Amino acid sequence: MEESEREVIINASLLDAEKRKFIKKSLVIENGKIVDIKDAVIESENSTDLKGKILLKPFCDYHIHAPGTKLYDLFGINLSEVSTKDYASVIKDYIAKGAKIVRGFGWDIDELETFLVKQNKSPIEFLNEISTDIPIVLFTLDFHSCWCNIAAVDVMRKTSPELFDAGLISSCESGLFHKHVAYSLFKNEALSFTQLEAEEAFLSFQAQAISYGIQEIYGFLFVGIDAARAWKVLQSLENKGLLRIKFNCTYDVYPDDTIEGLAEKIEASKKYVSKHIDFVFAKIYIDGVMENYTALLHEPYNDNNTTGVPNWEEEKLQELVDFFQQNNIPLHFHAIGDKATSMAVNSIVKSKKKSELRNTITHLQLCKDEDLQKMKDNDIVACFQPFWFFSKQEIPKKEIERLGRKRAEQEYPVSKLLDIGGSILFSSDCPVVQNFCPLLGIKIACETQPNAKERIYDYISAYQVGKYVGKSPTLKVGDNASFIILNTSKVEDIIKGKASLERIGF
Ligand SMILES: [Zn+2]
Repeated sequence: MEESEREVIINASLLDAEKRKFIKKSLVIENGKIVDIKDAVIESENSTDLKGKILLKPFCDYHIHAPGTKLYDLFGINLSEVSTKDYASVIKDYIAKGAKIVRGFGWDIDELETFLVKQNKSPIEFLNEISTDIPIVLFTLDFHSCWCNIAAVDVMRKTSPELFDAGLISSCESGLFHKHVAYSLFKNEALSFTQLEAEEAFLSFQAQAISYGIQEIYGFLFVGIDAARAWKVLQSLENKGLLRIKFNCTYDVYPDDTIEGLAEKIEASKKYVSKHIDFVFAKIYIDGVMENYTALLHEPYNDNNTTGVPNWEEEKLQELVDFFQQNNIPLHFHAIGDKATSMAVNSIVKSKKKSELRNTITHLQLCKDEDLQKMKDNDIVACFQPFWFFSKQEIPKKEIERLGRKRAEQEYPVSKLLDIGGSILFSSDCPVVQNFCPLLGIKIACETQPNAKERIYDYISAYQVGKYVGKSPTLKVGDNASFIILNTSKVEDIIKGKASLERIGF
């Protein structure tokens, strides 16, 4: 809203997070602040009557990868909805339009393998048949792996020789590269995106977030562009006055990082801090993912006699955790398997400054009860992605294969943690999900978890701006007049997924 404007809103249903219900109230807004909230209707010449519609603080996505899918939607190809058999024609059509490079994402390792075995081709052969002179670089949906043709490998040889020197790429390649090589391609300016492309993609991503009522994000590993360049993109947009949501950035930590290197990175980030840009977490990947058996488990997988491999030795992990805690930077752990969660929790408990910072663990596919209790006792917040939740009646086949039914039933222990008084945040992990609308996330949590009528207040709160820093989701006098208004007065409509945004006021 405009500065110096006065607005009176009557009959708005406001969330009272402590009483766990919506209560009809009137509010007065002046100069962008809430200056009065009353139970009774406030008489005013031109008030807005919401007729009981729900008015909430804006949403925050507590784990997302900016700019989502936008770089690929606008300046490349998005294969996430394309069937493997159509890859060749989609890529050929894109080249036929005059593309000088093909940058894409969205394929799945298992599906690709099955497809290529049938075709009797190696990954690089398949892409070379499409083109040997236009570079083709295609990432998996999770961006942990990358698939290239010979032209892309040739560009890498010229522009990223260190990957060859270090033996990360050898001469006889299949065209598939994982982790380190895949990430390093975001840094490679010849195969990545330009500053202007990235600026446009960030603005498009921001518009998508705002349309979902999101006013703030906690952004991890950028997609399509490396962190150092992404910070410059955000700064440029801030200088042009174009940022409207708050970007809380993070320091991504890798096993080959040194304490000195990380200290330099932290120092270098300081010049980017501004109204809409901040740095809040250090992100440490403890393990990988269930799909390829890299999630770290206490008991072996159901369909493979391994327990996964940690990305860290305990001593090195502890050294890093202590370093960040001493520098007042809270940690955000990626932990999928139950043993990964144990490692994360124990490293925090052991760390010296444990009580002063709110650390978070994200994903938490499996977690032992004793670790949930330790999380609660040490104010470690669980950052879940409700988009991945499923009900006990509809456990995905793959989960049962990997973990067996008994463990699969225990996945994503959001209810258990809330039952013992633990703290949760919600997020999307976009681009793993592309529709990252918080109202959809809340609906999925309600559908898949028990006791939706009671829990809905926890789920809404888990998405509210300020939740992580301990602010109550209940609007108070003195708060900024930033809010969203839903098209309904009924909380049941949110549970059933019938609610949508009617007004975005920030
Ligand atoms: Zn993520």
